[in-house]
Amino acid sequence: METVYSALKPTGKLTIGNYLGAIKNMTAMTDEYNCIYTVADLHSITVTIEPSALRENTLDMFSMLVALGLTPDKCLLFLQSRVPMHSELAWILDCFTMFGEARRMTQFKDKSLKAPENVNVGLFAYPVLMAADILLYGAKYVPIGKDQQQHLELARTIADRFNNRYSPTFVVPEGVYPKVGAKIGSLIDPTAKMGKTDENADGTVFMLDDKDTIMRKFKRAVTDSGSEIVFSPDKPGISNLMTIYSAFTGKTTDEVASEFSDGNYARFKLAVGETVASFLLKAQEEYRRIRSDKAYIAELLSSSADKAAHIAYKTLAKAKRKVGFVV
Ligand code: AMP
Repeated sequence: METVYSALKPTGKLTIGNYLGAIKNMTAMTDEYNCIYTVADLHSITVTIEPSALRENTLDMFSMLVALGLTPDKCLLFLQSRVPMHSELAWILDCFTMFGEARRMTQFKDKSLKAPENVNVGLFAYPVLMAADILLYGAKYVPIGKDQQQHLELARTIADRFNNRYSPTFVVPEGVYPKVGAKIGSLIDPTAKMGKTDENADGTVFMLDDKDTIMRKFKRAVTDSGSEIVFSPDKPGISNLMTIYSAFTGKTTDEVASEFSDGNYARFKLAVGETVASFLLKAQEEYRRIRSDKAYIAELLSSSADKAAHIAYKTLAKAKRKVGFVV
């Protein structure tokens, strides 16, 4: 069985962008692959974050991922900071990543502009840690959204470079992007990505939003001029809503267009809101059950980290031997 790896960082609360861009594929792949997933808290401190918020987001995210189907019988889900091999391999890989390559990363440039007072070395080296995350587990496939494509390409470059310098050590991973939902836009500014930490929370639907909030956000979603419900680059608002509706219902965008051929924007937005709310409310029920079971979570955090460390150690030891460390 091939290995699949993916991770989400608990910088903020999970959004439907995370769900449609990554988690949906992550869940779907558990039947056919050996799936290893991480709540990537090491990645969260590249930006300024309150310790209490990080702790809460981490437990919320871990519980929600289990609630969405990433249960211990289906996959290995663990917390990154509990497995020290990630940081250790990242250092080795830092020495196989060119400064110019890391500097070209658009997320680094965007985040540097957003927080010029905190352009730290961790933010710069973030994609190298991500490469270490993936390479430690010998993952062949990595289900992610389009915003992570450039980082995944860098992970491939680093793996190739290391393998060519020594001998085959790392599996060179491939990104897996959803057909629908690889890039969910903000409801307020649909050309920008729906992000966990956007300034305007009205543009983002969180997995834990209540029904009224979900409906309000969809009612206020920015639409385009005209009244046709068609999927087109000059209708980014409607196209984004069509993508969300289509990804949650499994209908094609053509089917969605004919379902709403009367061109009633208000009716369409209401339908998208209802569909999203009904999915989220069900997930939230299961989430609450798991999140309140502190003993279960504590046991799972500990046993999953042990299993992950066991796998990660083998790859790390191999890499250490190759570079000449006495192991
Ligand atoms: P992050 O929030 O950066 O930890 O991302 C976790 C996963 O969600 C990654 O695979 C991202 O590519 C994906 N993702 C985040 N935001 C979006 C979005 N707006 N649309 C699609 N996928 C997304």
